[in-house]
Amino acid sequence: MRLIFLGPPGAGKGTQAQILQERFGAKQISTGDILRENRNKGTDLGMLAKSYMDKGALVPDEVIIKMIEAELEKLHGGFIMDGFPRTTAQAEAFDASLRAANTPLDAVVLFNADRETLFTRLTARWTNPRTGRSYNSVTNPPRVAGIDDEDGGPLVQREDDKPETVTKRLDVYERQTAPLIDYYRKSGKLLEINALAAVEDVTRELVSKVEAAEKAAS
Ligand code: AMP
Repeated sequence: MRLIFLGPPGAGKGTQAQILQERFGAKQISTGDILRENRNKGTDLGMLAKSYMDKGALVPDEVIIKMIEAELEKLHGGFIMDGFPRTTAQAEAFDASLRAANTPLDAVVLFNADRETLFTRLTARWTNPRTGRSYNSVTNPPRVAGIDDEDGGPLVQREDDKPETVTKRLDVYERQTAPLIDYYRKSGKLLEINALAAVEDVTRELVSKVEAAEKAAS
């Protein structure tokens, strides 16, 4: 299974990628998580990325493309790209890598959601900084507020989930990432799902559309 999850921040790409990873074994590759891990460890990449991330801006394409190439080298089997590509330059570079490896995409899943709901969701998001697992105090709350169901550790609000930064990130999505919808629609690989349904309903729609696309392709 080789998938791209495309959609605005807060649409639930990470949550669904984790569910599909557990169910189908395809590896979730979240560029946001990799950057945050580097930032937390204080690596050169992390320090460079921090200044962009804190502002809600995109990290430069060359940095991201290099990072993804390193991830692809470690990979054996399927993947779910979560938060990558985010610009046309990234999509073109990724296409070239996939062509060179003779590993075409199965599908690009577009998570449809309106801006107002995303704003509310993002500003209500709480994350476990150790595992990257995220909750939403409105739509997907933990059993105990502020505590991870899985490891019992504290949940924190991401710096870039503060309201001013969320507005900027949604603007950046519309300007720089939304053009990829047409890019992938032209390739015939785009599937669309309603990202605003309950988590398990989104999973159901997602799995049935991906399986139908795989069946049609084989
Ligand atoms: P995310 O967790 O996917 O919302 O990503 C958090 C932040 O990491 C973004 O606001 C960007 O600053 C940076 N980032 C993540 N993925 C990318 C990407 N593919 N291209 C550029 N910047 C990225």
